Amino acid sequence: MRQKPVIGITGGYVKHNAFMEGVYVHHDYHRSVAAAGGIPIVLPFLNPEAALEAAALCDGVILSGGEDVDPLYYGEEPHPQLGYTTRERDEAEIALIRHALEHSIPLLAICRGVQILNVTLGGTLIQDIPSQWSDPLQHSQKVERGRDTHAVAIEPGSWLAEILGAMRIRVNSLHHQALKEVADDLKVAASASDGIIEAVEYTGSSFAVGVQWHPESMAATNPLMKRLFEAFIIRCKKQQEA
Ligand code: MN
Repeated sequence: MRQKPVIGITGGYVKHNAFMEGVYVHHDYHRSVAAAGGIPIVLPFLNPEAALEAAALCDGVILSGGEDVDPLYYGEEPHPQLGYTTRERDEAEIALIRHALEHSIPLLAICRGVQILNVTLGGTLIQDIPSQWSDPLQHSQKVERGRDTHAVAIEPGSWLAEILGAMRIRVNSLHHQALKEVADDLKVAASASDGIIEAVEYTGSSFAVGVQWHPESMAATNPLMKRLFEAFIIRCKKQQEA
């Protein structure tokens, strides 16, 4: 039997030129999963059926960052600042999320991941923070990915509070969208000082936590983010053994 849990990481879309297009996952996800004791595998998006077949191979799934979620899925028309969208990825990930929650496959949802998690469960998104939120912080940082740029307040009693052992942490920020109406089955676990939701947790029996920041790019140098990955991998290990 395998000793390490297999962690599927959903991929984004990249086109380099007419001859090179395919799946994209930032290397930091692989490094962080491997460093925390998991086996990272990349999940390309094809269609919902293929997503479910791939999920069957995984002890845990990371919903990675990337393209904006098509507002079609939360009943809105596109805002002028909406970025690139891939409906194939949205549909594959919506199916994957439903399957994971139903079959108790732990989910770690990062950036776009927490957004598609919320949309899947019936929530909505702010399509563009700078133009749709009053007096926002800078959430699309101009410095390198791994650097912390703003604080978040962690909700007492949340899984994040328990794992991180802190009520206020500093995070990086590489998002122009955020959660608006939070789905009924999610509860807010962290917020920025401008009121932007920075983390949610699933209230059902399956394990799912979503963060708006990028812990995978902080984990190499930040002990709290390393701990976040280790705690997630432990949940996946338990699922693997169950
Ligand atoms: Mn932020």
